[in-house]
Amino acid sequence: MSPMSDVASPDLAPHTPELLTCDILYTGMGGAQSPGGVVVSGGIVAATGHPDTLRGNFPHARERRAGSIIAPPPVNAHTHLDMSAYDFQALPYFRWIPEVAVGQREKRGLAGALAGAETLGGLGAGAVGDIVGSHGQDMLAPLLARTDLSGVVYFEVLSPFPERADEVFSAARQVMDAHRKLERPGGPRLGLSPHTPFTVSSRLMRLLTDYAAGEGIPLQIHVAEHPSEVELFRTGGGPIWDSMTRFPYPATFAEVIGRAPEADLTPVRYLDELGVLTARPTLVHMVNVTPDDIARTARAGCAVVSCPRSNTHLECGVFPWAGFAAAGVEIALGTDSVASGGSLDVRDDVAFARTLYPHLDPRLIVRAAVKGGSRVTGTPLPFIRRGETWQESFIWP
Ligand SMILES: [Zn+2]
Repeated sequence: MSPMSDVASPDLAPHTPELLTCDILYTGMGGAQSPGGVVVSGGIVAATGHPDTLRGNFPHARERRAGSIIAPPPVNAHTHLDMSAYDFQALPYFRWIPEVAVGQREKRGLAGALAGAETLGGLGAGAVGDIVGSHGQDMLAPLLARTDLSGVVYFEVLSPFPERADEVFSAARQVMDAHRKLERPGGPRLGLSPHTPFTVSSRLMRLLTDYAAGEGIPLQIHVAEHPSEVELFRTGGGPIWDSMTRFPYPATFAEVIGRAPEADLTPVRYLDELGVLTARPTLVHMVNVTPDDIARTARAGCAVVSCPRSNTHLECGVFPWAGFAAAGVEIALGTDSVASGGSLDVRDDVAFARTLYPHLDPRLIVRAAVKGGSRVTGTPLPFIRRGETWQESFIWP
């Protein structure tokens, strides 16, 4: 025993409260505040609020600037873990798909998915919305078994041929039925992802979303990512159609969507009129949308996930954050895959979004990454409030 042990060192006194300060505090409840502070005593949160108030109420607390943000861990609400072994490359959308997504396809699979899950665990991610590619059924069981990975693992389905819709649906349903029983308490739930409104026939889209709505299965759909998707619904042609018809595809886009393209038809209006939005799918990207699309999304109560780095790297445009926020739509953030986003750390998208939207209150962006993601993935948040255990991971690096 050290002879000095009976002399209390101020640094080691076990219950000297500590006041941690930051630029943005989000407790998990209400809105985020700026500046913010948290008083921690004996590893327990004693109080949260404005630093000046906390200084007055805890005059003996030692003060430490924690960093820019104190908040629960953010949720990566949209990614493709099975592409985690890919090399990142920023390229325009119509070059990225053949040169990166298809060009590196031998790197897609279970090894990448598990490495990605490890990476998320190391980052202390709150939860994940992960898309498992349609040929990746073998990945579902190992991912669902991971109780360190909360959120949703969505099985992706695509087929543009209406005459094959029933057959593709019943195969997808068998996969879902076989794997739903593998869900574990604390682990991810199984979800369903009809790929996009232009790669899934209208009949299959309805079958999948009606089934999911009836069974309470979470849904994600990629919508309005690139401007040419809007052109496709307006004209039935354009660069997306040209790139798709290199694969086996129906003769016309009208066959895929079960109606004629028209001047003011958009991907969102199409999904709404098809009855898909009543299943309340989470709509991913939503970059190239009209005010009417935003109003339809809000009316249906659908949440959206924005992937700001991926959208910028692929030159898809800028998600109209202020428009969705004004309409009261729940916004979450995702990295998309490392191949287009650059990393699996959604805090990198928070930082990127703060530069992309210089006039947007950064407190909204932090709240979206935490609360929006929690709502999208259906995972509970840890709250930072009096009586809860303090975690150092609440300080975002
Ligand atoms: Zn995606």
